[in-house]
Amino acid sequence: MRTPFVAGNWKMYKTVHAAVAFAKEFRSVVKDITGVEIVVAPPFLAVHAVADALRNSNVAVAAQDVYWEKEGTFTGAVSAPMIKEAGAELVIIGHSERRRLFGETDQTVNRRLLAALAANLGPIVCVGETLEEREANRTLDVLDRQVKVGLDGLTAEQIADLVIAYEPVWAIGTGKVATAVQAEEAHAHIRSRLRQWFGANAADHCHVVYGGSVKPDNIAELMREPDVDGALVGGASVDVRGFSDIVIRSQVSKRS
Ligand code: PEP
Repeated sequence: MRTPFVAGNWKMYKTVHAAVAFAKEFRSVVKDITGVEIVVAPPFLAVHAVADALRNSNVAVAAQDVYWEKEGTFTGAVSAPMIKEAGAELVIIGHSERRRLFGETDQTVNRRLLAALAANLGPIVCVGETLEEREANRTLDVLDRQVKVGLDGLTAEQIADLVIAYEPVWAIGTGKVATAVQAEEAHAHIRSRLRQWFGANAADHCHVVYGGSVKPDNIAELMREPDVDGALVGGASVDVRGFSDIVIRSQVSKRS
């Protein structure tokens, strides 16, 4: 049985001050919640301070991106060892906003992923089709390519520990959530490919979480699907009440 996994991606919201204030309030609201892995991903500048504010709590910290070199003449980039030392345990890789706005490709996703694993950071790898690709009936082909190229070179053990976020691009920040049936179809497909390429143990343990306009009122329905193991939440994760409601409902609906 996979433990529900819920991560909040704050994108480019919250100053260091606001991020720490959120972390302090949030840790006390969720302190008694067990049986769900909870993660927040602040902007880079706030990673260290938020990790400090969440030390010895049940909430882990993720960075939103990582560069594949360890150090060097790469102005503006942040490496995996730097993120790890700042106190993050995970990192989001290949978010569709990085793909669309910053030239991320399946190949660069793979380089970042290998660098994250080498630094002992837990990757959350994002995949998902655009509206155009869905309408052209290419969703499953796109997912195959993103998973195959993005995860190239990983061992079955590394896949077992991985989090893959299925985030249909047309559902991100649009208020248009995929139906539970659409989400399950994509998740089950991803898991079947993992089984084919990396074996049953890897496929059974890998978390496949859904992202795209997740809110307190739609998380339960999504979580009832057998292959939906949690959520990557954007807009609804910047509010303490809203995000903690999502965390609580993700757990309750998986049990029922
Ligand atoms: C995201 O940023 O990963 C995301 C899913 O955003 P939203 O929840 O706002 O659609």
